[in-house]
Amino acid sequence: MTLESSQLNELHWLMEMLHNIDVGLVVLDKDYKIQIFNGFMENHSGLLPREVKGQLLFDLFDEIPQDWFKRKAESVFLLKNKAFTIWEQRPYLFKFESYRPVTGSAEFMYQNTTFIPLLSASGEVTHLCLLVYDVTDTAIHKQSLELANQELAVLSQTDGLTKLFNRNHWEHCLQAEYKRWSRSHHASSLVMLDIDHFKNVNDSYGHMVGDEVIRHLSDLIRSHVRETDVSGRYGGEEFAILLSDTDLSNAKIFAERLRKEVASSVVKHNDIDIQYTISIGIAEVEKTLSNYEAWIECADAALYRAKEGGRNQVCLYPKQT
Ligand code: GH3
Ligand code: MG
Ligand code: MG
Repeated sequence: MTLESSQLNELHWLMEMLHNIDVGLVVLDKDYKIQIFNGFMENHSGLLPREVKGQLLFDLFDEIPQDWFKRKAESVFLLKNKAFTIWEQRPYLFKFESYRPVTGSAEFMYQNTTFIPLLSASGEVTHLCLLVYDVTDTAIHKQSLELANQELAVLSQTDGLTKLFNRNHWEHCLQAEYKRWSRSHHASSLVMLDIDHFKNVNDSYGHMVGDEVIRHLSDLIRSHVRETDVSGRYGGEEFAILLSDTDLSNAKIFAERLRKEVASSVVKHNDIDIQYTISIGIAEVEKTLSNYEAWIECADAALYRAKEGGRNQVCLYPKQT
């Protein structure tokens, strides 16, 4: 084999490889007319290389924003530097279908692309090569991981039985509200409530029924609060509700409404009807409270008085003026 024919062979193989490689390859001239279009591009667009040769890129692929693309390409021509796009910023350049079985959930092929300046023998950039990488698997995995993380974050803030905030997250919200109040001094009230003689429910009907009563109360709380209020399960059968932009007297109206609704409702379990009541303590945030823990203590003290006073009632922590 002569040197020349071996070089020709290598060139031929090179062309074969470029045609069959699992990466899209497009060469454009300065007028954005397609000069080379490899097998990957053919398979995904359904267009033959001979059909597209000499055609304007934007005529064939109208999903490519012309102004943006030209700005990017012109800097490649001018500066003789590479340029890139990544799927996080621009999901795709060519809108191809995603065909991979693993990533059947993707509507289209996510792509990263590289723009490469092609130098002529005279050192001028007359053409531009586009490399198109299919990164659908990576994109889908990253997106599902992000979704799982979001779900996990919600789960870590939620009480399993009631689906209200758990104590940890609820306290976090209370602390944030206290800080917000320190700057703006808007009204804000804290409601703490506890089921009366709940031990009797457990003792008479069992723990499962007790759980059902707890769930019943959490559903009632959910239906009574506004979207901006923050409700949490503070302990076993104890709940805490933060009423933002609500003063003591309005918080009392809310609490009385909830107390009456609880007292008049019936939890049905098989053929037994269970009735229960709640005691409620309320404290409005004020200057004498040096931190959010003190705010909780005040609401708790009011709740204690409600229990002492005979239960099934609302008590207010008096404002210190
Ligand atoms: P009162 O509050 O009126 O003073 O009386 P109580 O009987 O409710 O007293 P206490 O608050 O001391 O009792 C709470 C009971 O709640 C004790 C505990 O066994 C029960 N409990 C706590 N968490 C759960 C739970 O998740 N499910 C059930 N079924 N019971 C729970
Ligand atoms: Mg109780
Ligand atoms: Mg209790």
